[in-house]
Amino acid sequence: MTVRQLHLLGSPVLRQRAAPVATVDDAVRRLVDDLFETMHAAKGVGLAANQVGVARRVAVVDVGEDAPPPLVLINPRIVQASDTMESAEEGCLSIPDIYGEVERRLGVTIESLDRDGRLYTVELSGFKARAAQHEIDHLDGVLFIDRLPPVARDRIKKRIQKEGLAKGAPPHAFAL
Ligand SMILES: [Zn+2]
Repeated sequence: MTVRQLHLLGSPVLRQRAAPVATVDDAVRRLVDDLFETMHAAKGVGLAANQVGVARRVAVVDVGEDAPPPLVLINPRIVQASDTMESAEEGCLSIPDIYGEVERRLGVTIESLDRDGRLYTVELSGFKARAAQHEIDHLDGVLFIDRLPPVARDRIKKRIQKEGLAKGAPPHAFAL
């Protein structure tokens, strides 16, 4: 397994819509393993392939709960979502030291392929549901700052323009 280089805000691949995986082969499995390794090294709780410069629909989530186990998302789709919305703090490994309150669906049901290419369905709630929605956004070229109210988004844009990205920022429990 290899820790891959993280792509930060400004890298075009973060704005690309990632391509579906046709076959879950050894290269895809290696990508999954590297995503876990890279995410753990960065002390994050989720990571999408775009964030390591690969525009394919692959992501991982590990919020440190035992059940359900860490998620492998390959070609994931939200097939059901609760009407209830929840607002909570969120960050992104590609936008270091920037956090914001993002409104997301409280619960989602996701259909995805696993590391062996088998289709599975999982119901998620709370932070795990939030993490999965954040990663699926990445696969569509969407970042959490896009989902902030305009005032908060402008404040963040101005701060980044003025100070640049905090590349050596300490890790944070909500970075995905
Ligand atoms: Zn992110």
